[in-house]
Amino acid sequence: MHTKNKTGQPKTSAKKIEGLCYEPWGLPTERVVRLQAQFAQKEAEQSPAREIIRHIITPAELLHTYKKRAAPRTVHTKPQTDIYKYSRSRMVREQLEARGITDQNVLHAMSVVPRHLFVSEALHSTAYDDRPLPIACGQTISQPYTVALMCQLLMAEKGMNVLEIGTGSGYQAAVLREMGLKVFSVERIAQLYTKTKTLLTKTLGYADILLFLSDGTLGLEQFAPFDRIIVAAGGPSVPEALKSQMADKGIMLIPVGREKMTQNLIRVFKNNGSCKEENHGATTFVDLVGSQGW
Ligand code: SAH
Repeated sequence: MHTKNKTGQPKTSAKKIEGLCYEPWGLPTERVVRLQAQFAQKEAEQSPAREIIRHIITPAELLHTYKKRAAPRTVHTKPQTDIYKYSRSRMVREQLEARGITDQNVLHAMSVVPRHLFVSEALHSTAYDDRPLPIACGQTISQPYTVALMCQLLMAEKGMNVLEIGTGSGYQAAVLREMGLKVFSVERIAQLYTKTKTLLTKTLGYADILLFLSDGTLGLEQFAPFDRIIVAAGGPSVPEALKSQMADKGIMLIPVGREKMTQNLIRVFKNNGSCKEENHGATTFVDLVGSQGW
């Protein structure tokens, strides 16, 4: 099966055939392999010196070898991650350190979690910008600084357990995990829960982040008490269920506002059974929807 060149001669140059068409991961397509195999056979038939090639590897064997090396089966996160390594360290330097984030554990976690993998591919190049981004189901992934500030205000120590309400894309859960915490995360939207579970546990290997599909305003009674609670959506008040599930000397962060879309970031300290609240300024989160939310 030869194509003709301008002079009407068949094209039999291996170089030309090799250059026909290669898949992005560097393996030739089946068609190219077949052409190469036919070419090798023809060469061997024409030249007695190459006779031996026919016995060492037949066209069928060559095809079989390439078929076995077909497309990669797993998602390669490493090369993609590395593309944005510089953007990520710049984000840490210019958006976090420059604005007063000093907790080394938080800075380290945010310099290793590949934020771009938590948004759609079309948004990869904007994932390290200084702003929140849309995720599925009308929800958002918080601005990097907000994630960092909340993580720093948690004053968490490695090994503590933390309850996150609002898994969303899973980005904050991954950051908390990289900080050395045992993460329990609750999401109320089934579509997000399923998508994020696959990303976190299968693609990124965070198999020990425990994900739940339920109304997070009720907490997770069966795993309480929690050393830390972080709520990634804004409600009209601090849910009583969450207060009761805080460990003694526990800390909770939650955006609270009487009106939707405008809240104050509240830090709650629990001491000997009573709770004290501290205001950390105005913020904007999506709605905390549930029996003790909106
Ligand atoms: N931490 C997330 C932020 C997601 S936005 C991230 O890093 O991407 C807030 C999320 O809270 C949304 O996914 C929304 O569905 C969820 N949410 C709102 N009310 C909730 C509730 N009562 N229980 C659990 N999740 C809730």
